[in-house]
Amino acid sequence: MLPGSERSVLQQFQRARLWSQLVWAGLTLLLAASGTAQAETIATGTRLGQHAERTRFVVDLSGPVEYRIFSLADPYRIVIELPAITWLVPRDGAISGRGLVSAYRYGQFSAAHSRIVLDLAEPAEIVTHFTIPAEQGGGVRLVFDLKPASREKFLETAGWPADLMPAPPVAIDVPQPGQIGDSDDALVIVIDPGHGGVDPGATSASGLIEKDVVLTMALALRDALLADGRLDVRMTRDDDRFLSLQERVAIARAAKADLFISLHADSVGRGRVRGASVYTLSDKAMNDEAEALAQSENAADVIAGVEIPEASSDVSGILIELAQRETKNLSISFAQTVIGELGQATSLLTDPHRYAGFRVLTAPDVPSVLIELGFLSNTDDEQSLQSADWQARVAGAISRAATTWFERRAAGTLGGVAAP
Ligand SMILES: [Zn+2]
Repeated sequence: MLPGSERSVLQQFQRARLWSQLVWAGLTLLLAASGTAQAETIATGTRLGQHAERTRFVVDLSGPVEYRIFSLADPYRIVIELPAITWLVPRDGAISGRGLVSAYRYGQFSAAHSRIVLDLAEPAEIVTHFTIPAEQGGGVRLVFDLKPASREKFLETAGWPADLMPAPPVAIDVPQPGQIGDSDDALVIVIDPGHGGVDPGATSASGLIEKDVVLTMALALRDALLADGRLDVRMTRDDDRFLSLQERVAIARAAKADLFISLHADSVGRGRVRGASVYTLSDKAMNDEAEALAQSENAADVIAGVEIPEASSDVSGILIELAQRETKNLSISFAQTVIGELGQATSLLTDPHRYAGFRVLTAPDVPSVLIELGFLSNTDDEQSLQSADWQARVAGAISRAATTWFERRAAGTLGGVAAP
């Protein structure tokens, strides 16, 4: 049975976005209610000015505050971190930029901190900053003067302060031929028996259950792979438990797996259909996933009050797509290798290499295939799936495919694969 639907990725993302908007609305209300009750600093104005060679940013405050400054690249931003401040700044025109600052925003982003984010039109640095003290009962002014900087100079100091890291950035290893086997680290294979626990998967007429069949098969495959002695074999589950598709992907990514194999057994209405097939991720689903993944990574910044504008979500989207393209090619080459071996061990479905939007195949940096071992709806396949001989033969075939593929990958001889 096919796990998950690709539609739900987008729905989940939309739901998450709606949720975060609701949270923001709630926070705003909360702050409006509590802001005046606390004797905290009040911001009454912000403005930008362009003077000869520098751009000046000014904040009017009811009293002096400690602050610190850091910068973030791609897109270029300067962030001013402040204590909790009540923002009573007229909104009109406050957002538009001038000089080196293309736009800016500000706000409370946690109980203890406020932030001002200056979006830069080009790399720039704050060359001077100071507080103009209060006079005659008035407030203080924070002044920040910006001058252009080279990209190189900007990058020297750009980055999140360690204590403020919003979330670990997604580490995407773009797998490369020749990388594998260069190190002493064992190659990691994650075997993923489909379904489990409350999710039985498909069921045969005689009551054979997919979650049990694929677990037995997965354990046989694990033993076959371990016999090679060079492989680090992990299982997403080795007992009868439920795991979400996301959790399965997360396990593969956390293990920095070199290969991910999800095992399933299909069922269709027509009892004559039989044979194994191997799936890799389809383009459509990859693009949706790249978008959703980019958006969810960016969500960390949204929560931290420095949401990245549209332009840069393209940047992370491209990085993810690059990793995915390489991963996709590796997935396809493994699919072809395993089909070659499986063809010697069991019957294959017509056009055994297929493409679909399985969420379990969406790790951008782990070559992944989903093997439908056979059809529970076919009596011949059903018999095979229960046969210890057949299981050993198929486990051997998949295991040989994995070692062959790893060797070719290490030697850089996988060759080009035609994308669908
Ligand atoms: Zn299944």
